[in-house]
Amino acid sequence: MKRIAILGSTGSIGRQTLDIARAQASELKVVALAAGSKNLDLLAQQVIEFKPELICVPSVEAAKELTGQLGCMQKLPEIVFGEDGLIAVATHGAVETLVTAVVGFLGLKPTAAAVRAGKTIALANKETLVAAGSMIMPMAKQYGANIVPVDSEHSAIFQSLSGYKTKDIKQIWLTGSGGPFRTWDKAKIAEARIEDALRHPNWAMGAKITIDSATLMNKGLEVIEARWLFDIEPERIRVIIHPQSILHSAVEFVDNSVVGQMGLPDMRLPIHFALFYPERVSSTEVPALDLIKLGSMTFEEPDYDRFPCLRMAKEVASKEDTSACVLNAANEIAVDAFLKGHIKFMEIPELIERVLNKTNFVSKPNLEQIIEADERSRKTTSELMLPIAQATR
Ligand code: NDP
Ligand code: MG
Repeated sequence: MKRIAILGSTGSIGRQTLDIARAQASELKVVALAAGSKNLDLLAQQVIEFKPELICVPSVEAAKELTGQLGCMQKLPEIVFGEDGLIAVATHGAVETLVTAVVGFLGLKPTAAAVRAGKTIALANKETLVAAGSMIMPMAKQYGANIVPVDSEHSAIFQSLSGYKTKDIKQIWLTGSGGPFRTWDKAKIAEARIEDALRHPNWAMGAKITIDSATLMNKGLEVIEARWLFDIEPERIRVIIHPQSILHSAVEFVDNSVVGQMGLPDMRLPIHFALFYPERVSSTEVPALDLIKLGSMTFEEPDYDRFPCLRMAKEVASKEDTSACVLNAANEIAVDAFLKGHIKFMEIPELIERVLNKTNFVSKPNLEQIIEADERSRKTTSELMLPIAQATR
């Protein structure tokens, strides 16, 4: 029986992880859960169903509200809150595998704590590696913590590598669907509405990553994520657009053999893999791929002109300073503002570019310097956004 904890249990990845825990109840035990305060009803249902020992919510008020909803339970779980609470969930003594399914920089500190505690990390929270990969990966080595990617492309690369080393790789083919604006021209993209950007053709995901998929920032963040996970120069990571999202990525080895991983676009596939790694456990929850029904797959070059977020992320990917952290923070603020209707779609890349141009980066940063760079970038982005946001309203 594998004992797991989830940071972000009420989100898209969190809920799908619990679907697997439900289907594989004899194999997986949910020991600890953390979530935000937007869906306390759902969190209460999860607690009643899975009976974890420890829960974390953001505040005392949320803890009180949740306790009120758990009145029917014979034995209440321990409820903690805030950043220390997230770290308590991430490092719970009984947990073997931590699923990091919170969005954004928020995941960094608990993930770092879990790495120090030698946990296996089923990593969905890519922003942690984007902002602090240079620190997290050596730390994982030092503390013997396994990091198994949940992001579908990285799971595909991980599975395709199967024991081969970075030196055996010629290049990585990192696939992406192209998002909802793949075929839109520049003028139309500039006028994209929130509901257009939230309509992803292949994947149902949380709001932030859905917008990142529309700007293609998601693919850029994934280049940086892959760079750290697989210790490979970004120049050897080739982004290609594959609208069907069936080949989740591939590794081209030095002998020109290309090994990829395929499956239907269903996140439960890479989550299932990460939860059971290194075992292969048969799945009732993930539908099988029928290649005859699929018929064909297509591939095309990405357009860096229509999608400047991808270009910017690729530009910072090879740097060993705080530039990726600054880009990530500026993106989080800009995406949030777009989702609130404060800025237009193409103002997301414009703002990020202005923040990058305005910032002095710290080379080979430690944790404190990464946190400081993140905070400063958020502040700069908000300041630069003020006149735009006022004009839009
Ligand atoms: P969602 O927005 O759906 O979920 C985010 C989760 O984090 C929710 O449970 C939310 O709780 C919780 N949360 C928010 N604030 C806090 C807090 N202060 N403390 C604890 N938990 C908090 O995101 P996704 O599931 O889409 O994405 C999660 C991560 O996985 C992201 O980094 C994303 O890039 C990555 N990923 C996601 C994929 C997907 O298919 N969704 C695919 C590949 C990667 P609540 O809403 O209840 O307040
Ligand atoms: Mg992905």
